[in-house]
Amino acid sequence: MGAGEEAGAEKGSVRSLWLEEALAGGGQESAPRLEGEVRADVCIVGGGFTGLWTALRLKEHEPTLDVVVLEADVCGGGASGRNGGFVMSLWSKFSTLAKICGREEALRLAHASAEAVEEIGAFCREHAVDAGYRHDGWLWTATSPAQLEAWEKTVQAVEDAGGHAFERLDPAEVARRSGSETHIGGVFEASAASVHPAHLARALRRAALERGVRIFERSRMTRLLPSRPPRVTTSGGAVTADVVVLALNAWVAGFAELRRKLVVVASDVVATDPVGDRLEEIGWLNGLCISDSRRLVNYYRTTIDGRIVFGKGGGTLAFAGRIGESFHRRSPRAGEVAAHLHRLYPMLADVRATRSWRGPIDYSLDGLPFFTRLGGRPDIILGAGYSGNGVGPSNLGGRILASLALGRQDEWSTCGLARTPSGKLPPEPARFLGGLVVRAAIARKERREDEGGEPDPLTKAVAKLDPTSFVDRGSGAAVASTVDMAHGMSR
Ligand SMILES: Cc1cc2nc3c(=O)[nH]c(=O)nc-3n(C[C@H](O)[C@H](O)[C@H](O)COP(=O)(O)OP(=O)(O)OC[C@H]3O[C@@H](n4cnc5c(N)ncnc54)[C@H](O)[C@@H]3O)c2cc1C
Repeated sequence: MGAGEEAGAEKGSVRSLWLEEALAGGGQESAPRLEGEVRADVCIVGGGFTGLWTALRLKEHEPTLDVVVLEADVCGGGASGRNGGFVMSLWSKFSTLAKICGREEALRLAHASAEAVEEIGAFCREHAVDAGYRHDGWLWTATSPAQLEAWEKTVQAVEDAGGHAFERLDPAEVARRSGSETHIGGVFEASAASVHPAHLARALRRAALERGVRIFERSRMTRLLPSRPPRVTTSGGAVTADVVVLALNAWVAGFAELRRKLVVVASDVVATDPVGDRLEEIGWLNGLCISDSRRLVNYYRTTIDGRIVFGKGGGTLAFAGRIGESFHRRSPRAGEVAAHLHRLYPMLADVRATRSWRGPIDYSLDGLPFFTRLGGRPDIILGAGYSGNGVGPSNLGGRILASLALGRQDEWSTCGLARTPSGKLPPEPARFLGGLVVRAAIARKERREDEGGEPDPLTKAVAKLDPTSFVDRGSGAAVASTVDMAHGMSR
């Protein structure tokens, strides 16, 4: 078995503003590199939210368990320390959830995902973590007429199932809460929170160390040997463990078995300097998460110190799932991302984006994460496919992976997300070339819609082929041609 691509702080790469801030604090020196032979009960590969929550859950179940975490970079160096900091539930994916595991299980998982958002807040409080956790909800908006009602099918499906996740808002209220009249419609989902993701990742690392988890940073897995028990090697050593958990996010596409199950796409983020007074002027005051309903989604929030963090989906496509150096550099589309910020907030046109970064998103083909066994082996398990909504759901991912690792028969190991990933992408190079064509069509379509025009039929048809999805792909059948296309290559 081959390992994932090299991750982390290579020459020429940049840290996110978040991670830079988190690493600047005292007591955050890196953990040792792995040197020599190590034996463990469980070896977790990947020190992001998924790996760290899994480690903590394992210790909760069995405090004496010997758990090792191997991280190629530093914990939080991957997507967990680079994201938009939206902590979301799975309500936005309710239709898809119901399709894969039935309405009852979908309701249970959606409620559990909303509780996970609260649990992250509780973790911050209990561990006195200053991670800027603000429980102010998520505004799912339209910023062009073509996006209107994009949420409707999801909202209806939730209501039909007896759920109460979304509040329909009139356009004036959407404009008021978002701070700009360019938001012409939307719904509000109260369970979401925003957070400083790198502070959270580093706090999880600290909590894991305190519970006796052995963490090795700058220790990249170079091979996973499918011996019994399995063995993970790095350039300096090896870990033999009863169970290996691959918590590798998009890097798991380095394994042939997963390569055609994931679309790996960069998402690009810019941040402004603190502009608190300007935010006050427009009434954009709290920790609200906001996104629009385009496929190349715009997602944005403010920070505790008054910055705007604005991200955009649909960046570089990874050929054959390979995450190259360009995924770790300054965003090559920073200007384009900032232009979207200024289009949505024209009154902030003079506010410059002074920082940019990017990272890989692991789109599954149905937009939901999956937790499964590699090669059907009970002692090599993995979780990925969060599709741009992983900050909250990785907390559930930790529960599922811990239960699978311990061979427990419980509500997590048997839940609807413990499944083999669905679908299969075409082989390369067809997939990469096709992806470029589809992405160009989406960009053309959205540009046209922003101008108030109607995209041509061919552009619309090609854009529809996008398999990726940040919210329900099934959303909006009532306005099929726009809404079907309104989500997807997001984050
Ligand atoms: C720019 C961006 C914006 C996003 N915005 C949001 C958002 O606002 N809200 C949201 O919910 N989600 C968002 N996401 C997605 C979210 O960040 C992820 O779903 C989540 O962090 C997944 O956590 P993880 O632990 O599975 O992955 P990661 O944090 O990526 O952890 C995987 C780790 O594996 C390590 N690794 C890779 N290869 C190896 C190897 N061979 N050996 C050892 N270690 C290895 C990596 O260095 C990395 O640290 C965003 C993602 C990006 C990139």
